[in-house]
Amino acid sequence: MNIHEYQAKLLFKQNGVPVPDGYLATNPTEAEFAMRRLGTEVAVVKAQVHAGGRGKAGGVKLAKSPEECRKIAEAMIGMDLITHQTYPEGKKVHKVYVEAGSKIVKEYYLALFLDRENAGIGIMFSTEGGMDIEEVAAKTPEKIATVVVDPTVGLQGHHIRQLCWSMNLPAAEQKEMTPIVRNLYKMFIKYDYSMLEINPLIVNDQGKMFALDGKMNFDDNALYRQKDVELFRDYLEEDEREVTASKYGLSYIGLDGNIGCLVNGAGLAMATMDIVKHYGGKPANFLDVGGGASQETVTNAFRILFADPGVKGLFVNIFGGIMRCDVIANGIVAAAKELGLRVPMVVRLEGTNVEQGKEILKKSGLNLYAASDMADGAKKIVELVK
Ligand code: GDP
Ligand code: MN
Repeated sequence: MNIHEYQAKLLFKQNGVPVPDGYLATNPTEAEFAMRRLGTEVAVVKAQVHAGGRGKAGGVKLAKSPEECRKIAEAMIGMDLITHQTYPEGKKVHKVYVEAGSKIVKEYYLALFLDRENAGIGIMFSTEGGMDIEEVAAKTPEKIATVVVDPTVGLQGHHIRQLCWSMNLPAAEQKEMTPIVRNLYKMFIKYDYSMLEINPLIVNDQGKMFALDGKMNFDDNALYRQKDVELFRDYLEEDEREVTASKYGLSYIGLDGNIGCLVNGAGLAMATMDIVKHYGGKPANFLDVGGGASQETVTNAFRILFADPGVKGLFVNIFGGIMRCDVIANGIVAAAKELGLRVPMVVRLEGTNVEQGKEILKKSGLNLYAASDMADGAKKIVELVK
């Protein structure tokens, strides 16, 4: 789960990580008043969407007066912000964060992440903040320092010294940064993050450090014990199809293609997407109904695929191991009856009760193509949506 920058900054503030003052605004009047309340000469108006790269895309603007702040908010709220992290159509801006402007002297990058490879908590620090860190890693890897903390031992002074010294940080800045890293580490444990990123972490003209941006990614498997965090969830930011799927307990990820895929097993679902691409098609989703799905789960899965206007064809690829082909077939028929089949469908069934499954589909009188194997099915559906 992701949260907004303004929410991340609330958590920073509560946990001893310095952030500039700021207020959330959902309309231009609130934005104007936010700046009056801040009383600063400059305010920064920042689009609150779950995507990075807002700065370059026009989602971060400086205001020199409350009137200007109002104008900027007027233009920003309601716009579709297109950044390199959004789909081509962009993300609708519903609210802005109005923050006291900072006098930036330096921009650094600081992130904590779950380092699976080393079974620890990684801390990454770079003097090249404000930029795309992937680009820094590719072009100038020597400008990034990384340490791994063993969670059974915890964060030690030497970890922080190593980060600072390998980046030649002045002593005064090291002193500023030390409590920030300590508090971020405590937060990482407390909130079950999988990733926590500050870009940029700035040094201002007084030599003080502030988190000017905050991206937080929570481990979904731990949300059950993060009730407060869960309240930050903003459904407006999430793919509607994914929200519905999670209610049904389905493993679903929305994509921007036009071939809806219904598969059992994550591995087969990946292979199905690959083969659809191989034959020149574009999957509309990843969907794994799981091994022991009931007829109801299957019907719900179809509900999501049928309701997606982007879906121009359906490809059902089932290998019945634990999952029985007749259950899938009944699910297909029930969903088609309820919702109406408006697009071509290709079904490939294999495994347990395959004959019964095929029989059910045949008897249903549904207009579908029964594929002989996976490649045949993929080829056929690509052809049909064209
Ligand atoms: P992102 O592009 O989505 O990562 O949004 P950020 O919050 O990181 O903002 C992008 C850039 O805007 C930052 O790297 C800064 O250079 C700039 N910026 C943000 N806040 C301020 C501010 O208070 N003053 C100034 N001068 N620049 C700012
Ligand atoms: Mn940023």
